[in-house]
Amino acid sequence: MLKAATLATLSLMTAGLAVTVAKAQDAHVHGEAILQLVIDDTGALATFKSPAADIVGFERHPETDVEKQAVADALAKLSDFTALITLPEAAGCTIDDAHADFEVEAAGDDHEGHDHHDEDEHHDEDEMQAEGGHAEFHAEFEMTCADTSSLTSLQTSVFDLFPSLEALEVEVVAPAGQSGAELTPQSTEMSL
Ligand SMILES: [Zn+2]
Repeated sequence: MLKAATLATLSLMTAGLAVTVAKAQDAHVHGEAILQLVIDDTGALATFKSPAADIVGFERHPETDVEKQAVADALAKLSDFTALITLPEAAGCTIDDAHADFEVEAAGDDHEGHDHHDEDEHHDEDEMQAEGGHAEFHAEFEMTCADTSSLTSLQTSVFDLFPSLEALEVEVVAPAGQSGAELTPQSTEMSL
């Protein structure tokens, strides 16, 4: 479990993150995903987000069975932290909780009054609103680590899983301070 002090830091980060996400819906950069990692004495929280264009190739509600399957497959891949990110084995991290979601943002949608229509209800209207909009995949992982002092490096496989991605912006908050790096297909590992 995360300590209270870290949770306070985390809620500050989350507040910042919410703003970032809201902006990203309008202006996320295709080809760039973001990973945030908050580490404390007992574990870590990882948050990943990516433009849907780089995950499934479209940024609207899936329409065909193939597209629906693509979203389902992507959510399954993004729910598996160890497929995305490798942490040192010596840290002994185990995932306590993982979830991924797919969010479609219509152009000009200010993110308020989220209407969750039943399938096919107002479908045409949704489709029209979605044109020109963006969509993102988000994933969040809570983990407990036997020895967080062994969390000295991070390696990613996202470029193998999603070849359209060109960069992964990594932001780390650890007891020792904050750090960050931009990983690319040519540079998939960083020190923490
Ligand atoms: Zn987009």
